[in-house]
Order: sequence, then C-alpha cells, then structure tokens
Amino acid sequence: MTETNSKKLVEMDCPFCDEYHSVEEGMRTAQALVKGEIVHYEQVYYRCAVSSDEDNEFVPAGVMDDNLLRARNAYRTSEGLLSSEEIAQIREVYGLSQSDFAALLGWGEVTVTRYESKSVQDETYDRVMRMVSDNPLFALESLDKHSDRFSADKYIQIRRRIIERVSVGVHFLKQQEIRAAYVDYVQETDLNGYQVLDLNMVGNVIAYYADRVPNLYKVKLMKLLWYTDALCLRRHRRAMTGLVYKHMPLGALPLGYNEIIHLPSVKVVEELLGDDIGYRICPLVATDDLNFTSQELNVLNTVAMALGAMRTQEIVDYMHAERAYVATALNEVIPFSLAKDLRELR
Ligand SMILES: [Zn+2]
Repeated sequence: MTETNSKKLVEMDCPFCDEYHSVEEGMRTAQALVKGEIVHYEQVYYRCAVSSDEDNEFVPAGVMDDNLLRARNAYRTSEGLLSSEEIAQIREVYGLSQSDFAALLGWGEVTVTRYESKSVQDETYDRVMRMVSDNPLFALESLDKHSDRFSADKYIQIRRRIIERVSVGVHFLKQQEIRAAYVDYVQETDLNGYQVLDLNMVGNVIAYYADRVPNLYKVKLMKLLWYTDALCLRRHRRAMTGLVYKHMPLGALPLGYNEIIHLPSVKVVEELLGDDIGYRICPLVATDDLNFTSQELNVLNTVAMALGAMRTQEIVDYMHAERAYVATALNEVIPFSLAKDLRELR
C-alpha cells in the first residue's frame, strides 16, 4: 500500500475512543479482489491519533461502500466495462431513472441500481447498455417492446427524449456525409474561395435566407449561396462558407447540396407545387442571434435584396449569364477567381 500525502484532520465519531473528536483522514492506493481479479484502487481510511492501540485505523460504513465502488470501478476500467458514472450518464441523456432504465431493457427493477452501487455488470449487460447510448433506434425499439412497464405519460415523455437523440444522430450522419464530400478541399484554394468549409456558417447563412427570403426552395437557395460566397470573395478576398460549387444545368451547385439543407439550424418542408414536390427551406433558429460580422451581414443583405425576390427560373437565367458559369464546363468546379467578374448586384 502506498500512502499519499492527502491527509487531513476531520471531526467524527471515533470507534476506538467512543468519542467525537478529530481524526486523521487519508487516501492511499489499496488492493482488492473483484470477481477473482486483484485490482488497485484509491481507498479512503481514518486513523485515531489518540488511541495508543497499534491497530487504530477504521472506515465508517458509508465510506466503506464508496471504497468498494471505487474498487469495482477499477475492475471495470481494467476489463473495459462501463463505470457506474458512465451507466448513470447513459440513462440521464434520456432522462431515465435507474428503475426506468431497467424497465426499458426488460430487466429486474433494481438491476441498474445494483450496477451503479453494489455489483459489476457482466459483458452482455454492458453491451446492451452501450447500445442504448450509441444507437437511439435500439433504445426506441426496447422502449416499445417494454411499453407495458411505463405509465402512458412516462412512455410518451421518454419516447420524446429518445426521438430527439435520433434526430441528433441524423444530423451527425449528414455532417459526416458533407465532410466526406469535401475531403479533397481541406486547403484554402481558389476552388473554395480561400475558406475551408465551415458547416456552422453554412447552416447560419441558410437560416438567414430562409428567414428573409419568401418562398425559398432548394434551387434558389443554392444560387443565393454561390452569390454569397462570390460576392464575399470579391469584397473581402475570402468566401464566407467554404462550399465548393460545380457547374450544373441549373447553375452553380455546391457539393453536398442534398445534405446541407439538413443542418441543425434549418428544416425542409415538403410541399406540393402543381404536380411537383417542392422543398421549402425554413429556419429553426432565431436569425437575430447568429453573430454575423457587419461585413458578412452586408454581403447577405446585398444578395437578399438583389436576388431574393426573383423566382427560381429568373435566378437560374441570371446565373447562366455570369462569366463564372459561361467560362466553365458542365460538372466542372467553378473557380472563385471568376468571381471578380461578378455582375454588380443591385
Ligand atoms: Zn479516538
């Protein structure tokens, strides 16, 4: 046993003297046997300085439990199992009490309580708890399977929390897809307007236009994004979002165009437009708090004023006349150096 220097005096009942007096509290690395394995853990102990007895150390019951918990957590760490705190974190993400978490998994009511206090879960139970954390759809499935163990209110409340996590998972996947599309554009070059992709900014710009421009649909949004970056580059030598645009039949189209409209700051509402489905872009954040600089706001305002009122076909025709479009071929990435020939937006 190695004693550390973290000793201090505390007032408590001393079992040797049967008196309330000041005793020494210390912490040291100790060994314990957990499931047949020797583990090292941080043990808290007390020592009576008054008693002349050789054996003057003691550990009150509550502290003994904490010591055991640390010993078990040391075992969990060495075996790669979830610690009691990690188990608690998993259920708290979904707003689950210990008994709710057990019910959701179809386990005995006190199973999780035991894992967070007295006993070590085996590997199968460990894996199931991890899946609840890593895969919200698995959590949802388990909840539905054991819905009879919850009151109707509780069931709805927990379900809502899980579904929130599912959508976080979807946003995460979409962002991974966007990043994958940009692996070749991680340097500042003429192709991204000397700006590395900034997804937070992309989301903010889309939310800004969704809030300011009436009837904002996908095609029109993509043109507004290109004009934003092109104008920003011409004015400030750097694009705003870091999106990379290709020459496509309807004008400039950023890589990952299908994914960027699913960033957390916006939502897409499907609408029937005649015989077609339109994807209207709506903001999900208060666009007054987006923290644009005044330079950025000026660019956004200019684009919104000049092009925001155009119908989709008008803005497509307008873009088709840009030199950036005329001077590039189908499927070619449009270099931002061509933005210096941008027509004056008014
Ligand atoms: Zn004493």
